[in-house]
Amino acid sequence: MSEDNNSGKDYTLEADSELRFEIEQKDAKVTVTLVSGFAELFGTELVKKKKYEFGVGAKVAIFTYQGCVLHATGKMDVCYISKETPMVQYVNCHAALEQFRMEAEEQDRRGPVVMVVGPMDVGKSTLCRILLNYAVRVGRRPLYADLDVGQGSISIPGNIATILIERPANIEEGFAKTAPLVYHFGHKSPSANSVLYNAVVSKMAEVTLQSLDANKRTKSSGIVVNTCGWVKGSGYAHLLHASRAYRARAIFVLDQERLYNDLLRDVSSNVHVVLLPKSGGVVERTKELRHESREQRIKEYFYGNARTPFYPFSFEVKFQDLRLYKIGAPPLPDSCMPIGMKAEDNKKKVVAVTPTQALLHHVLTLTFAESTDDDVIGTNVAGFCCVTDVDMERQSAMLLSPQPRPLPPNALLLWSELQFMDNHA
Ligand code: ADP
Repeated sequence: MSEDNNSGKDYTLEADSELRFEIEQKDAKVTVTLVSGFAELFGTELVKKKKYEFGVGAKVAIFTYQGCVLHATGKMDVCYISKETPMVQYVNCHAALEQFRMEAEEQDRRGPVVMVVGPMDVGKSTLCRILLNYAVRVGRRPLYADLDVGQGSISIPGNIATILIERPANIEEGFAKTAPLVYHFGHKSPSANSVLYNAVVSKMAEVTLQSLDANKRTKSSGIVVNTCGWVKGSGYAHLLHASRAYRARAIFVLDQERLYNDLLRDVSSNVHVVLLPKSGGVVERTKELRHESREQRIKEYFYGNARTPFYPFSFEVKFQDLRLYKIGAPPLPDSCMPIGMKAEDNKKKVVAVTPTQALLHHVLTLTFAESTDDDVIGTNVAGFCCVTDVDMERQSAMLLSPQPRPLPPNALLLWSELQFMDNHA
């Protein structure tokens, strides 16, 4: 490392090592430039001499297979070079998936669905990003499904989503999230309604597996599925459910031998279950940080970020015009259910919500379903609004929305547990 007080530092990395840094201070900015050699950030190659800028909250690893020199300016809170990385195992996983993709291509079959599983903060999303980047870099067009309703990286929390990956993730901003397919769940943990969660996952799996057939290149590329960090008890049952719904070809288990052994026992023998180490660089997040990052994602949905700010709109909606529903009615014993219905069905029931003060700050999902006679659970999401004020006297609510126009007359909104305090105005 060589130091120059005013203009930053040079970092010389040997082959198979990475520069890791974190930025915690508000308003801090770090710029990194690749001076020589080759380097990548979670699978996206850095362009030589280009300045990349990182802000508060960034937890970054810039890895090199061949060796490189990086130049960085700005204040980092943690910064070191590590030679211990699991990248060789990760690239081997990519190579194995490529093998499946080539077979699929030859036989005009669907490519592999791979699920990445493991407890919280083990680098699941990062491994998905690496696998997807490597896939597009060799000309594939995979789908990326994120089933993590707590910390999902595609839509806002409380939903599951899928996008088509057509180019490597942007170094600073991740994958382009154009035209995602989103299904509403409404809670930040699947435990809030396991029956609904499984139903929504089944729907997503069914629709996306079918959509693979529409495009030859995507068909053989397959799907990378990111999952929740809840891996015990019902959380484990959800993983099994997802693996069946997606007909997973491979499951990459990060950092937990017990989960690996349980899956080996419980999934069919033609599913390749692989145990992988987590990177020592992956940073654990506290409960508070997780909460903050959920809020941040919702804020970005409405307001964008420093690079691409959005300017949302506010409008008033009279309670009488608000068609608001919630999925899941309070449980009733089987004996109290109408003939032919199980208590389980109540968990998927669409029930009307009467607006009250309690709606304040809640995120509401605008669904493409137009009536409760439609398959509301199985219909994708058009967008989100947030309740910024409730006026019981005027019998109205103020909604924050990315769209300038008021809600269409047949708009059907779904209540979500997630809240967002709009302190922006
Ligand atoms: P999970 O999906 O399992 O919760 P993530 O992939 O989101 O975990 O990783 C948690 C955090 O660790 C992210 O902010 C990510 O940028 C960071 N991270 C991942 N891998 C590394 C690494 N090798 N070095 C430094 N930070 C990393």
